[in-house]
Amino acid sequence: MLEYKINNYITLKLEDETTQIYVNDENLGIFCKKLFINVMHLIYARFFTKVARDLGLHKFDEPFQTLLTQGMINKTHPFCTNCNAFLMKADLEQMICRKCGNTDLIQKSVKMSKSYGNTVNPGEIIERYGADAARFFILFGASPSSGLEWSEEGVDYAYKFIKNTFILLSEPPKIIHKNLSIRDTLIQYYLNKTIKEFTDNMKKLAIRNAVNNLIQFTSEFGKYKNEGIIEEVFEDCKEKLILLFHPITLI
Ligand SMILES: [Zn+2]
Repeated sequence: MLEYKINNYITLKLEDETTQIYVNDENLGIFCKKLFINVMHLIYARFFTKVARDLGLHKFDEPFQTLLTQGMINKTHPFCTNCNAFLMKADLEQMICRKCGNTDLIQKSVKMSKSYGNTVNPGEIIERYGADAARFFILFGASPSSGLEWSEEGVDYAYKFIKNTFILLSEPPKIIHKNLSIRDTLIQYYLNKTIKEFTDNMKKLAIRNAVNNLIQFTSEFGKYKNEGIIEEVFEDCKEKLILLFHPITLI
């Protein structure tokens, strides 16, 4: 028997003269891979989905509802302007261009790759800043379809933001009012606006914009807390903000 695993979703089995194709009962929500992998896998998946449909094995025309092509993660790396080339991993120690002997190298952004030796070990980042800061930085740094420029300062900002937000949410407010004022109505308006915009952005996979919505609301919420709060309004904002943060990072 011949068995072809087309990808994680579709397996083609040829047994004597019988052909069996196993596919999911429904098409999948999102197909998400890097550019060069995406294109080929999508061709296979679409071809076999249509074959299986023509054989009467299922009724849908396309294997996926949405295609998302991920951007690359880039980082600055030594570059030789004489040779128009980046230094390879083996040459990094001496910081010299092997082709022309140039030591006057500039820093230029390039996709992370093992051959350049400019990859970042997630383990080190997680140990230093925690997995939540690393995750927050990646989601805030770029929307999934754009390229991300890796920067230590960016991870550092994410770490500080998470730490400050944790303090904002965990320490009790100092000034508590009894009567509702325009400030309370305003923060409730900002909260509802944030929930709507965040939800719309997440549906569109515009994750960076969604994270931005949370950063802006967190800043407004911080001002509200400093200026004095109504307990009920404060607790409502706090609970909903934590819920909104949940898919992005754990505060
Ligand atoms: Zn060179």
